[in-house]
Amino acid sequence: MEVSAGIHRVSVPLPFWSRDVNLYLIEDDDGYVLVDCGVNTEAAVLTLESYLQDIGCTFSDVARIVITHCHHDHYGMVGKIKERSPARVGMHSLEAERAECLYGRTGTGGWEIFKLLLRYGFPRVLAAEAQKAAEVWRNVVWYTEIDEQLLDGQEMAVGSRQYRVIWTPGHSAGHVCLHDSDRRILIAGDHLLTTRIPHVGVTPYTGGNPLGDYMESLRRVALLEVDLVLPGHGEPFSDHRERIDEMTAHYSVRTEKVVEALGNGQRSAHDVARRAFGADPSSFEGRLGFTETLAHLELLASQGRIEKDTEGPMILFRGGRA
Ligand SMILES: [Zn+2]
Ligand SMILES: [Zn+2]
Repeated sequence: MEVSAGIHRVSVPLPFWSRDVNLYLIEDDDGYVLVDCGVNTEAAVLTLESYLQDIGCTFSDVARIVITHCHHDHYGMVGKIKERSPARVGMHSLEAERAECLYGRTGTGGWEIFKLLLRYGFPRVLAAEAQKAAEVWRNVVWYTEIDEQLLDGQEMAVGSRQYRVIWTPGHSAGHVCLHDSDRRILIAGDHLLTTRIPHVGVTPYTGGNPLGDYMESLRRVALLEVDLVLPGHGEPFSDHRERIDEMTAHYSVRTEKVVEALGNGQRSAHDVARRAFGADPSSFEGRLGFTETLAHLELLASQGRIEKDTEGPMILFRGGRA
């Protein structure tokens, strides 16, 4: 569906959750720029292929691919499209490193996740399950190297329009959005969503203080003039500042829950996560809750509100300084 003149939204199915991911096809002089790729499954490929057919095109009309971040739902089909088109692939260098680590032939992404979770005190057996779950993503990703690094502030001409690359670390370390300041459109990837709150957690995808990065990225994006947000999931929306306020409030409330759960003593992050959010740590939600807890703890440690002890084999946190 055309969501704005010359910008098509294609909603592509995902295999793991009962939801879709949005790809955006932007008309260019010599074909289309595709923003994000969906997963490499037959259903997703057919969905994109049939949309291209409906507008009188094929994969070979995709001249350029821009990836907002390397999560499998945004990156997975990239190799498949590249094989069938002349498209050049652009992504932030931090995402390119992580994509290689997670999906490349010799990548050790699952192992990195296991080590990180263990270091923060996640039970070994559950960390091993998380490693296995991460390795399953390889089944829906066709890895390819990028052709160009996207840089913060870089201008991209697409047809008669200019898009500016906005680096928005937080959800992922090299996440980028695209901003057309003339038409006040923001292609937002997973930085801003309406249907849910973008997950922010400490993982090998992120920097050491992803929640601090995310809050800063939200403040930056709030300064942009935007009438239409085109998100990575869900419907387009307006009033990005209201949504940013909601997300800032959501995370601030949860940071205080973590402070409360930590109390005055020294605790492992696993202990804090269970006390703060209570999700079953063996579930997918429990893993997300754990990595989110790490993000709150790292933010609090960076602000000097709590202490972080990295001496032993397991990182521990001590409260009582707030
Ligand atoms: Zn994502
Ligand atoms: Zn996503």
